[in-house]
Amino acid sequence: MDLDLLERTLADRGEPAYRARQVWEWAARGVADYGEMTNVPAALRELLAAEVPFATLSLADEAHSTDGTIKALFRTGDGHPVEAVLMRYRDGRRSICVSSQSGCPLTCTFCATGAMRFGRNLTAGEILDQALHFRRIEPVDHLVFMGMGEPMLNLDNVLAAARRLPDVGITHRRTTISTVGWLPGLTRFVDEVEQPIRLALSLHAADPHLRSQLMPVNDRYTLDAVLAECRRYFELRHRKVYVEYVMLAGVNDSTDQARELASLLDPAIFKVNLIPYNPTGMYDGSSRDAIGAFKHVLDKARLPSTVRLTRGRDIAAACGQLAAAR
Ligand code: SAH
Repeated sequence: MDLDLLERTLADRGEPAYRARQVWEWAARGVADYGEMTNVPAALRELLAAEVPFATLSLADEAHSTDGTIKALFRTGDGHPVEAVLMRYRDGRRSICVSSQSGCPLTCTFCATGAMRFGRNLTAGEILDQALHFRRIEPVDHLVFMGMGEPMLNLDNVLAAARRLPDVGITHRRTTISTVGWLPGLTRFVDEVEQPIRLALSLHAADPHLRSQLMPVNDRYTLDAVLAECRRYFELRHRKVYVEYVMLAGVNDSTDQARELASLLDPAIFKVNLIPYNPTGMYDGSSRDAIGAFKHVLDKARLPSTVRLTRGRDIAAACGQLAAAR
């Protein structure tokens, strides 16, 4: 729902200020349309249905994985593809992965989104509508900005959406914004955002030369500068920064590279997520043994780490596989 349009439409009609809040609260609780908003007068519900589309995105396709993961493909009003994923875990956690842009202007070599055409930034309403889609299926409690796009290139809309998430059932502590290290947005995020939203950094290599090969953005903003911002985030927010590290066979997965990573990251500040590579054509994923040996080095250095569970691989919904133009 376009919440600005909602507020304008209600204000133009001279409706009391609490109406917009009322309507939003119904939407955030997962109703399917205006008709269910029983404390809003029927005539007004009809007017809203005509003037403020209930959703800014239309569902084009939905794929269900055998592990319970659901991937939704949407189109914006002007036809851009947007994908979002609901991940269901055994412990009951329901985590949504949303897109901040249609496509992505960055060109990380291992990521499928970078290979598709960049469309545009998504509005706050388009970001929220991805979450609301899944909220209409079931209650949700975690959200990560790890779908298509670079959130720090669209920070205002990302934050406007994030601020509304507690109404949907997702606290700020359970909201994570992931970045390649886009410095201007990251600096603003550290300076301006008071909510305890989690920061995640896509690192993928401790060595700057290798990182530049994997992620051209590394030539633009130095790793030192990016890590300095991450440390500043920790000092101000007292929350650990999660580091994402996708495991590429023979590229960044040797035990020497694990030692390099351990000497780069302060265990008091960073926690590493080792991500099994989901094939997108360009690399081979590290073997389980290689991932285990890499993790063992981090363990010995007392740098906290986990190996991420891969979800939705059978429906191309796993990290880096969201490329709508299949
Ligand atoms: N642009 C932001 C937000 C997207 S997050 C960022 O990069 O942080 C997407 C996550 O999935 C990143 O950590 C990315 O590195 C990871 N990823 C991309 N391609 C992948 C692949 N093929 N296999 C596993 N993880 C991948």
